[in-house]
Amino acid sequence: MQDLKHTDITYLPGIGPARAKVLREELNIHTWHDLLYYFPFKHIDRSRLYKISELSTDMPFVQVRGQFLSFEEMGVGRKRHLVGHFTDGEMVMDLVWFARFQYITRSIKLHTDYIIFGRPAMFNGRINISHPDVDPADTLLLSKMRMQPYYSLTEKMRRTGFSSRTIEHFTSNLFQHLREPIPETLPQYICDRLHLMPLDTALRCAHYPSTADELSHATMRLKFEELFYIQLSIIRYTRERSQRTRGHVFALVGNLFNTFYRDYLPFPLTNAQKRVIKEMRIDMGSGLQMNRLLQGDVGSGKTLVALMTMLIALDNGFQTCIMAPTEILAEQHLATFTSFLRDMPVRVELLTSTVKGKRRKSVFEGLKSGEVNILIGTHAVIEDNVEFRNLGYVVIDEQHRFGVAQRARLWRKNAVPPHVLVMTATPIPRTLAMTLYGDLSVSVIDELPPGRKPVKTIHLYNNRPDDLYRGMLREIEDGRQVYVVYPLVKESMKIDLQNVEDGFRYFQELFPQYKVGMVHGQMKPAVKDAEMQRFVSGETQILVATTVIEVGVNVPNASVMVIQDAQRFGLSQLHQLRGRVGRGADQSYCILVTGFELARDTRRRIQIMTETNDGFEIAEEDLKLRGPGDLEGTQQSGIAFDLHLANLARDGQLVQLARDTATYVLDNDPEQNLPVNRLLWQQLNELSQGRENWSVIS
Ligand code: ADP
Ligand code: MG
Repeated sequence: MQDLKHTDITYLPGIGPARAKVLREELNIHTWHDLLYYFPFKHIDRSRLYKISELSTDMPFVQVRGQFLSFEEMGVGRKRHLVGHFTDGEMVMDLVWFARFQYITRSIKLHTDYIIFGRPAMFNGRINISHPDVDPADTLLLSKMRMQPYYSLTEKMRRTGFSSRTIEHFTSNLFQHLREPIPETLPQYICDRLHLMPLDTALRCAHYPSTADELSHATMRLKFEELFYIQLSIIRYTRERSQRTRGHVFALVGNLFNTFYRDYLPFPLTNAQKRVIKEMRIDMGSGLQMNRLLQGDVGSGKTLVALMTMLIALDNGFQTCIMAPTEILAEQHLATFTSFLRDMPVRVELLTSTVKGKRRKSVFEGLKSGEVNILIGTHAVIEDNVEFRNLGYVVIDEQHRFGVAQRARLWRKNAVPPHVLVMTATPIPRTLAMTLYGDLSVSVIDELPPGRKPVKTIHLYNNRPDDLYRGMLREIEDGRQVYVVYPLVKESMKIDLQNVEDGFRYFQELFPQYKVGMVHGQMKPAVKDAEMQRFVSGETQILVATTVIEVGVNVPNASVMVIQDAQRFGLSQLHQLRGRVGRGADQSYCILVTGFELARDTRRRIQIMTETNDGFEIAEEDLKLRGPGDLEGTQQSGIAFDLHLANLARDGQLVQLARDTATYVLDNDPEQNLPVNRLLWQQLNELSQGRENWSVIS
């Protein structure tokens, strides 16, 4: 058997040095193996021939058999085009070209049978097809041509005369050249159990299926394999690491936790809060390091969960710290913690840029001596000069603002790493989480504290300022407060800042009887904090802001979130912003203001927002609309193996199947030495070679 991975494409008839160079440079195809795995992006069913009378503009692609009657050049300048009058014997239709007139009129013979292929469109009330594929009817063997593969090409390739057909010739040539079946890459028992096609069949069918059904079976086998090896690699890595990484043992739940639970809790925990605290207690007592992701929608009460699990650490004689993404939030955590803990014997300290001089020195000393039990801060906490006596547990709030590298710095200085809890309100769809954060255990708070009214979301066009004004006025007169948020995109910072400032003045004039505040990222931290504080205390009724208020700020009295130019925000961001209201007992509103003209995706985003308050549903939709590549954190995670076919957004069920199968394999063959799996470990090691490790989040 030829070694496909080491057979150069030039060993294939029809591929000379020039074409090989193009394939290498444009498509990264070097070997026979690469060519086999360059899959068509679609197939066209060429088994069906249409009559011109049947054509309509909602058909994707059609083919018609017939003859050209005549050609005619029409229009002038840039509108110049060539029209071919084409008949199927019953009706006549126009085929249109905007370039290469000479070539076409010279190469096509009149009154000869051709099969033309393209997308029907309507022009001047008549069906036409522009730039159709034209094939002589006799060379196109329809019996062999049922599902025709279409390969994508780069612009440069088109210019050098490549077409999808060219690649088609290469792949069909390649399959003819392979004398033996392509070697299998999955153990037989897995293929049998899951009814997967053998690799050889799957590859052939992925390029040249005879039916749509066959194509989907082939695709499913290939996607499964991609996902399976990723999951196998993640799970193997996670298991190896957890065996390696011993953790502090928090053996007891002691005085502080119990006293707090019994005497200090102002309200009963939700069942979800109880469940996740229990999950973490088990982790922390296991002797292995905890690495857990806590997901919970905005307002679900993650802070309290953090505090209570931190008390467990204190009960076991350790220090803890919590890191927030902004100083405002760190301060808010301090306020929350001190009000929850009241007179309990716990020393809580804040470490931000505003903590200076003597105070700062005393915090440092307290950390070193162990007198400070809980440290609250921002990135400053992981600066090198911060020394703990015995840091046992770290909570990272709203993790997506923290880089992976920063997180890693946290425990390099300790011999035994602290337990880590990463909290996020950005819901990560499960299937994506399995891959991106596959090495973290996941806890979910899927229940809001009782008595919350879901936020009502309303879409308003920007030509109805009176409606907006009346709505805001009603709420403010009732004693509530209003956020007005403007988008701020880096590139066009100046214009956007202008918008915020204009908005600020506009609302000042509109509501002269009330106080309006403004915060944005360009302000000095102290000024920003002061403005924020004025809103928190209720001194200002309206806060005009950029997305600096997106994460975590808690003003229960605010009942309206107005989002200007809502079309410019992503779904997750809109959901985050909406989460700033609806934190009190009153009905709250989120007003999405946009212009009339909206792209289809935007309309869909707005629609989703008005239809659901469920963060997970929104995240799934977001993933579908944007694809996983755009999701925060995806970039830095660096998916180890290339995905040719599988799509984490769309192939959720397959991800699950792949994960279950990988778990099964590792459970049965923990030593990785069973003969039935030999092929599989070999394959995995080959795939992992030279790749970054899966230490996505360590
Ligand atoms: P998030 O999960 O977004 O960080 P917070 O921790 O800020 O949410 O909690 C939102 C609000 O809900 C806070 O005011 C908090 O005190 C309150 N809260 C938390 N848990 C409960 C509960 N079990 N019952 C009632 N209110 C709760
Ligand atoms: Mg929070």
